[in-house]
Amino acid sequence: MNPVRFIQAKRDGLAHAKEEMAAFLLGYLRDEVPDYQVSAWLMAVFFRGLSQEETLWLTEIMAHSGKVLDLSHLPHPVDKHSSGGVGDKTTLVVAPILAASGCTVAKMSGRGLAHTGGTIDKLESIPGWRGEMTEAEFLERARKVGLVIAAQSQELAPLDGKLYALRDVTATVESLPLIASSIMSKKLAAGARSIVLDVKVGKGAFMKTLEAARALAEAMVAIGKGASRRVRAVLTSMEAPLGQAVGNALEVREAILALKGEGPGDLVQVALTLAEEALKLEGLDPGLARRALEEGRALEKFRAFLEAQGGDPRVVEDLSLLPLGEELPLLSQEEGVVQEVDALKVGLAVLALGGGRRKKGEAIDHGVGVHLLKKPGDRVERGEALALVYHRNRGLEEALGLLGEAFRLGESASPSPLVLGLV
Ligand code: URA
Repeated sequence: MNPVRFIQAKRDGLAHAKEEMAAFLLGYLRDEVPDYQVSAWLMAVFFRGLSQEETLWLTEIMAHSGKVLDLSHLPHPVDKHSSGGVGDKTTLVVAPILAASGCTVAKMSGRGLAHTGGTIDKLESIPGWRGEMTEAEFLERARKVGLVIAAQSQELAPLDGKLYALRDVTATVESLPLIASSIMSKKLAAGARSIVLDVKVGKGAFMKTLEAARALAEAMVAIGKGASRRVRAVLTSMEAPLGQAVGNALEVREAILALKGEGPGDLVQVALTLAEEALKLEGLDPGLARRALEEGRALEKFRAFLEAQGGDPRVVEDLSLLPLGEELPLLSQEEGVVQEVDALKVGLAVLALGGGRRKKGEAIDHGVGVHLLKKPGDRVERGEALALVYHRNRGLEEALGLLGEAFRLGESASPSPLVLGLV
């Protein structure tokens, strides 16, 4: 494989062969192909795209660049992935529902970056809970509890990690085949047979339009099928944050309330839709999801999961064990009907409070965040609280400014759908 000719081929819009792609990219992983040549290739891909076949090959090369887990000996191994949103604590509700419905959810999750949160950060607000573990512990917990969530291992799809870091500094992140293959490489390496994808659409999401989200969903479903996995994508709205809570501990609290049957309707709807689709992929009765939730078995599964990973299970009864900053109400300056709560601005407000990280590796404060008291369609009087802000006297002015801009009031509001399509 001649790297210059390989780059030239994509620059000129020609197709690659799988072997030369593997040689070029695995050469990069071994530091034999330099960053500057891979950067040039990424930019060529950015402009020329990749065929469906090439996208599948890229995914498989990344998935097999490190350890590949085998969960096939466990009952109904399913995975769930979200393309990232604001207030998206869905995994904390879907995973225990699925585990309580007879599935095995053995999942790798990431940390939050910029305005979007990460499941590991949320769970780390529970005293004692740990996402780091050995592969043997991971598989043992999957077998015993049916639910385990681990911090993304460096050993899984290491080529994706290296390529992503390069994309980040060469303006080549926003490429559909590169995003689809990056997400799916980690899912393939994590070993589940069925994968349900929550592709978020709107202001607070990676994909701002339904067309872009559908294209991403289609690319990921095609990869899954090409790799003999069962994959379903659900397109859901991320114009406004999901639920009322944004911020790590606040989101855990809301997820526990949802598992107790006291969760906000939009969160429960998305969680049940995803769980039902996953059950269908496994040939199970989708009605199991609602029953697991209503009969309290999902909550019991969550408690067992916390305990298995060192977390204090008393959190389930006593939500005051979660960290919480000082409370400050955000009052409305006018009256009207809430037309919009801009998810991106709310996400940035929580980031300003210290609840997220601007750079990889930054420490975060689990106790800060925003609890929305008003969502689109709600009526508000002048002087009434729109939200409760939980803070530690850091970034408060910036956060209040962003929150003031996030709420848009009008005369009336027409409800917009939450589930926008299935792929
Ligand atoms: N998430 C990923 O894992 N990879 C991307 O390229 C984009 C989002």
